[in-house]
Parts: sequence; C-alpha cells; structure tokens
Amino acid sequence: MIKLHDLYFKPFISAQKIEDTVERMAQEIAKDLGDEIPVFVGILNGSFMFVSDFVKKYPKPCEVTFIKLASYEGVKSTEDIQRLIGLTQDLSGRTVVILEDIIDSGNTMDEVHRIFKNESVKELIIATMFYKPEAYKKDYKLHYIGIEIPKKFIVGYGLDYDGLGRDLPEVYQLKTTQHMTNLVLFGPPGAGKGTQAEFLKQKYNLVHISTGDVFRYNIKNETALGTLAKSYMDKGELVPDQVTIDMLNAEVEKNAGCNGFIFDGFPRTNAQAEALDKLMDSKDSQINAMIALEVDDEVLVGRLLERGKTSGRADDADESIIRNRITEYYSKTAILKDYYSAQDKYYGVDGVGSIEEITVRLSAVIDSL
Ligand code: AMP
Repeated sequence: MIKLHDLYFKPFISAQKIEDTVERMAQEIAKDLGDEIPVFVGILNGSFMFVSDFVKKYPKPCEVTFIKLASYEGVKSTEDIQRLIGLTQDLSGRTVVILEDIIDSGNTMDEVHRIFKNESVKELIIATMFYKPEAYKKDYKLHYIGIEIPKKFIVGYGLDYDGLGRDLPEVYQLKTTQHMTNLVLFGPPGAGKGTQAEFLKQKYNLVHISTGDVFRYNIKNETALGTLAKSYMDKGELVPDQVTIDMLNAEVEKNAGCNGFIFDGFPRTNAQAEALDKLMDSKDSQINAMIALEVDDEVLVGRLLERGKTSGRADDADESIIRNRITEYYSKTAILKDYYSAQDKYYGVDGVGSIEEITVRLSAVIDSL
C-alpha cells in the first residue's frame, strides 16, 4: 500500500503486465499499419511513460510528438475549459495515432477530434493504455485498448493524484475504505476479551463480533449451524475452519459501512487469519492490530470456573473442558502471535488487574495506532 497526500492506494496492475500490454499493442499497431510511417501523438502529461515505452517497442520507423491539455479561463470566470495545445507540425496526409494513457469519460476525445478536424490527416487512430468502459460517454471509436479497468481512480505509470504518483512504474488503485479500524482481540479463554470488547466498542464506535457468541446464539435458536457447532463446543474443541469463516464473512457483510470491527474469538487458526486478511482486503481495508490479553493459566481456570457458576455455559462448568479449551488455544491459536508479529501488528497487554485498568491499557494501544 502507498500513501499520496491524504489518500491510500493499493497495488493494482504490475509493471510486468503493463510491459506485456505495451508490447502487444506495439505489435498489433505495427502489423495493421504495414509500411505506413505513422506519427504517434502523445497527450501530456499522463502519456509520457506509455509513449516512451511504446515507441521503444515499436518495431518499425515512426515519428513521435506531443500535445498538451491546458486550462483556459472560460466565458464565466469560474469555469475552466481544457484545451489541447501544441500541435505545430503539418500532418496533412499522414496516419496519426493518438497515444493516450487513459480514457474514462472521453472528454479529451472531443478535443482530439476538434483539433484534427481541419488537419486533413489520412487517418486518425486512437490507442489508449487504460480504458474505463463504464465511464466512457462518447461515440468515438477507440481502435486499440491496452487494459480495461473498473471506474475507480488510479495512479502510477504517468497518472497522478494532485501531482504525485506519475513516476511509479506500476499502477495503484484508490482504497475506498480509508477510515476503518479493525482490531483482533486475542487471548486464551477467560482472558476477558468479551468484557473488554464491550467497553472498547462504545469508546471507538466499533462493531463487536464474537464468534463464540454467534455460535451460542445459533445453538439457542436451534439452527443447522448451531447444531453443528454444538458438537465441537461441548467438548471444548474448535468448530471446523470453513464453517467458522463462512459465518464470520456473513457477520461482516451484515455490518458493511461501519467504522470498523473488534474480532473476539476470531481468528483462532492460521487458515482463519488468512481468510480474515482476504476479507478485509476485499473491503479495501485491513486488520490494524492484534491486541493480546496475557493471563496466567491458573488464573484463567479460576476465572472460568467462577463464571461457570452463573453463565450457564456447559464449557465453563467442567474443569477438564476448560483445560481442553486452554490446550486448544496453545496448540492451535497461540501461533497466530507469529502471524501478526510478522506484519508488525502484535501488541501484548497484561490482562491481570481490574477491568478499568485493563481497559486503560488497551485504549493506550489503540490510541497509538
Ligand atoms: P469463546 O466464547 O470464544 O470461548 O468460544 C466458545 C467455543 O466456540 C470455542 O471453544 C469453540 O468451540 C467455538 N469457537 C468460537 N470461535 C471459534 C473460532 N474462531 N474457530 C473455531 N471455533 C470457535
């Protein structure tokens, strides 16, 4: 991911794919033009990189020139009219190939056709590296198209965002969800994740998803998912990954557009962590931090037995099931510390103390993100 001014952009089209596309376009155009010596006309500023790469790959003699889009003061003083300037050469009788970096609404095409109308060129051919079919509003034929892209803002390979990004050899796409804060609240059973999540969701206006709670809700309502999950939960084992991942995806989908999520009890395996990264990526977002509550095993057993007296949870009532849940945590889940450490997102927090003290510790981490 890169940041230009105030916005974030994610990798979209690799330099290699661009190079292959330029090569293909150069070959196609050369083949179609036969022995004709064309004049390639680049439209500045955006096309400089495309034109340079294109003519290097063009296998036959050619001429190259540029025209530029410039702003004039319009009839009304506030209105800017974009005009193409810089065509000084006599192009009558020549085959002209316009090389554009990108065609979206097609407004520049009006200008191109306007300035070439009286030039009596032999043929006017349009070639564009990138093309947004959903945005194109004109009827002018586009003879050669490099890569079709969705109607999203891109930078790189000549294209800029407020002056920056033209120099990048690959193309990036604007991330649309800029604002989400997504936290994974981590720790063994009984560490206090649920309790703390309640405070944090209020304070930071986040949606709290506890996979354990969602499973218990399904068990209570005797859904198919509940019946399936119950057989694992009663023994203190993990519910199979695909079942849990599908359920989590659905919960996130239900809350699309929120400020962010607190994931509690998820992910619990590497496969779940990878699925979560993919899901966040599809939302143009990411996990910002995994915050782990660190609590000694014997304290956990004591807390869960205490909770079992009132929670009504079968898996809190029996010490051997509690110990099995803790063992499951260390054998399957604790490895996720490495997963998030490798991304520089792991934050350990002492989970022993009063509820308020621990909330203060967690908030300090979140505020530092
Ligand atoms: P919890 O309320 O987080 O302690 O979860 C209670 C039980 O729900 C666990 O012991 C598992 O059987 C099941 N469970 C909750 N979250 C997950 C998950 N991410 N993956 C697999 N099983 C889960």
